[in-house]
Amino acid sequence: MKITLIIPCFNESRILPKTISRLMQIMNEVADYTLLFVDDGSTDDSWELLTKSAQQNPKISAIRLSRNYGKEAALCAGLEKAEGDAVIILDSDLQHPPEIIPEMINFWRQGYDIVEGVKQSRGKESFFSKLSAKIFYGLFKKFSGHSLDNASDFKLLDRKVVLAWRQFKERDTFFRGLSAWMGFKRIVIPFIVQDREDGKSKWSFRKLLRLSISAITGFSAKPLLIVPLLTFILLIFCIILAVQTLINWCLGHAVEGFTTVILLVLLIGSAIMISLSMIALYIANIFNEIKDRPRYLISEQLNLTNDK
Ligand code: UDP
Ligand code: MG
Repeated sequence: MKITLIIPCFNESRILPKTISRLMQIMNEVADYTLLFVDDGSTDDSWELLTKSAQQNPKISAIRLSRNYGKEAALCAGLEKAEGDAVIILDSDLQHPPEIIPEMINFWRQGYDIVEGVKQSRGKESFFSKLSAKIFYGLFKKFSGHSLDNASDFKLLDRKVVLAWRQFKERDTFFRGLSAWMGFKRIVIPFIVQDREDGKSKWSFRKLLRLSISAITGFSAKPLLIVPLLTFILLIFCIILAVQTLINWCLGHAVEGFTTVILLVLLIGSAIMISLSMIALYIANIFNEIKDRPRYLISEQLNLTNDK
């Protein structure tokens, strides 16, 4: 039984040596394993470091993506190449405590297909990021029906789940959501998010917003229902206003002033813009998916046998 640890990294050279030694120390005790690093287009010396480690140790393999594609694509690359009977996905910055890996493996040996790390405490985070996470998970649950409260990417997947994942053809993936969608026999393990020991978070607000929008629009067409909803509300409003205007006209006095006109223009204008924006988001998604480009390109790989 072999386990592949998939570790995406982007400019993490300062912490990689520590990550490698911590993971090896833990894994040597529990199972046969490979550490599969996915270098997501780092511009520091992460790749040089990985090359050196892979030359010294056959248990370390690595894929280098041709540029920075983002963590989701890096995870896809790892899942595509992983050979183990199970894979464990974890961050390279040790915020996902590797100490719970043996427990995860135990659950897998007991027959669970997915062992999910769930954040018991989100660690040090600003009020703003806590609030945005809450809003995002609330919306995601409302639209997709899957509750991802405190979910993380720290997961163990059995090989059959990995093979099932490989059938997914969509370009824009949302690993956390898709793994909830997949089902299978699962169990959760709570963990406490550790402080980042070195470097800083690689997720900018822009990247997070992009991921949130693509996660929601990729999972549900419900936001599009805002178009008929707004139409309905406006229709009712317009009927009332039309009746009032007609009655006034019959009684011989016209509706007064610009206020009504201004209000109507603003109301109809914003309803049209909101509807168009929703439609635009979905068209952008369709456009991105239909081109069917690969999710990422690989420029180099180390200690990997499959060239798929
Ligand atoms: N990461 C990546 N590509 C990116 C951004 C991040 O591979 O474009 C990796 C990063 O190296 C780390 C993991 O994804 O191993 C989580 O990123 P980070 O720690 O920056 O995010 P946070 O912990 O703040 O959510
Ligand atoms: Mg982190």
